[in-house]
Amino acid sequence: MGARARFLGLAAGCSLVASTFSLSALPTSAISTIVLGGTTLSALLVSGCSSAPRTANAPEPRRLDPPGNLSSWDQLSWIERQIDGLPANADADRATLKVRAAELYVEVQRPDKAGVSAREAIFALGREKGSIASRAHAVLGAVSLIRGDAATARSEVDRAVSFAESDSDVTTAYGLKAIVAERGGNASEAAAARSRMRSSTDPRLQDLVNAIMAAAPAPRPAPVAVASPTQGSSGPKIITRAEWNPAPIGKNVDPMGPISRITIHHEAAEYYGTTKAEGLKKMRDIQRFHQRDRGYADIGYHYIVDRVGNIFEGRPISLQGAHAGNINKKGQIPNAGNIGISLLGDYEKKQTPTAPQERALRELVSWLQGSYRIPQQNVFTHAEIRNMYDLGGTACPGCNLAPIVIDIRKHGPNSNRPAAAGLRR
Ligand SMILES: [Zn+2]
Repeated sequence: MGARARFLGLAAGCSLVASTFSLSALPTSAISTIVLGGTTLSALLVSGCSSAPRTANAPEPRRLDPPGNLSSWDQLSWIERQIDGLPANADADRATLKVRAAELYVEVQRPDKAGVSAREAIFALGREKGSIASRAHAVLGAVSLIRGDAATARSEVDRAVSFAESDSDVTTAYGLKAIVAERGGNASEAAAARSRMRSSTDPRLQDLVNAIMAAAPAPRPAPVAVASPTQGSSGPKIITRAEWNPAPIGKNVDPMGPISRITIHHEAAEYYGTTKAEGLKKMRDIQRFHQRDRGYADIGYHYIVDRVGNIFEGRPISLQGAHAGNINKKGQIPNAGNIGISLLGDYEKKQTPTAPQERALRELVSWLQGSYRIPQQNVFTHAEIRNMYDLGGTACPGCNLAPIVIDIRKHGPNSNRPAAAGLRR
């Protein structure tokens, strides 16, 4: 398959260009963590591949793949009509149509109907296993995740893995398995599952993941025991995403994967707001800019800190951000497992972080490091990350904020060294 995809989202607040790479030019190990939106491959996935020539009076083969140019709801109507026209003994075709309907019902956020349709597919299959069974169990796994039923999700996803046949089946099943493991707090199992994915451009997985994230975003991480005595167990107050009334998340988004590092940015636009209401409006503004002008699925950062120390939740932490860079020429992915934090303001000469803003940043970093066991040395400026990945320079997060980030990395988030504090004028 001509796997050519456009990578968007190299940076958020800083001016950088989107790039185009050919996936086939990348080592397969690099591809495993990339997930992109794009064309629907459902037609390829469900069509048969019989090479026997048809004779003139043989019947037309039954079509099992709805026209891809229809809306999801129209595809569902199309499938209903096909099922109505099936002879009683066409169980295999019925199962194929039912499983596609189940996937579409997940997509249109009707998990109840998706579950029913997937079970009907499994019933029609009888004892037969294989690709259709794998897809049906993958849907049941996604539905269970949406309902918060982790135990059922795990067993359904394991069935999806065991019945998987095609690359798409394998990728979908292991991708879902990784999410189940992540939500169970098992990062190593998640990484192992992710390494078994055969591609990451699979639209079936992506549709399921999007539906799960939209209906049941990952909960805030449970705090784990940390060495630092100043680390509060509940973390800083965070203004939730729901409070700023965000637009829906788009499709071109990747699961976060195991979290291992933090990258700090500035918004690169002067900001002087002092109220929460101004911050909430700014969140909507940044999201609109990132979605409409940059083509991102959502606001690029996971957290935003204003100048009075309010911390706003941005992109759900279960999703890879669009802030550090999507991929470099070696196929490495700076955004993978990388929490993006941006400070409102322009800290390249024009402004300096305020004391409450720096304090909130330090509390946030401290809490994230404890919650996700992020090593102290894995806190970077945007410029440092771009250098590490050979992506070219940026001034972000500006010469008045970068020394604070470097101080956090060298001396810990709770150091509050005079070197950093002395920057303030
Ligand atoms: Zn930046």
